[in-house]
Amino acid sequence: MLNPITLLDTPVSQQFAENPGYYQRVSGTPGHNGLDLACGLATQLYSPIEGVISELDVDPYGWGLYLKISEIGNDNGQHYLLAHLSSVGDSKVGDQVVAGTPIALSGSSGNSTGPHVHVGWRPNGAYRNTLYHGWCDPEGELARLQEG
Ligand SMILES: [Zn+2]
Repeated sequence: MLNPITLLDTPVSQQFAENPGYYQRVSGTPGHNGLDLACGLATQLYSPIEGVISELDVDPYGWGLYLKISEIGNDNGQHYLLAHLSSVGDSKVGDQVVAGTPIALSGSSGNSTGPHVHVGWRPNGAYRNTLYHGWCDPEGELARLQEG
């Protein structure tokens, strides 16, 4: 069982902004645009925040099976992205969730070399025209969520 907001026992397999040369080629960003947490296949994942599942899709050459959780009622609010999933269970676009709602199982779909979850985070008010298209390092925010 892995809660994306629980980092203490979850090894980071790739930090934000790592591997600049690779990510400049594959995604046009100056480095890795999220935080990778190593976990076994089909580990239960939970929503880190209250919000709505705003996107659920398959990106076969990138994020694989992924979903986004967005703040409700704030077009420019924060959102989280969980990627390389193996299953989203009954989750669907429009589902409202709270922090801790089970929403997906980890996997290794898309551009992935092994089971992990890619956690992307766009903070409230992030500018999409930045080098990272608004993505920021979620590690500090996840630690803050965990402390409650
Ligand atoms: Zn990643």
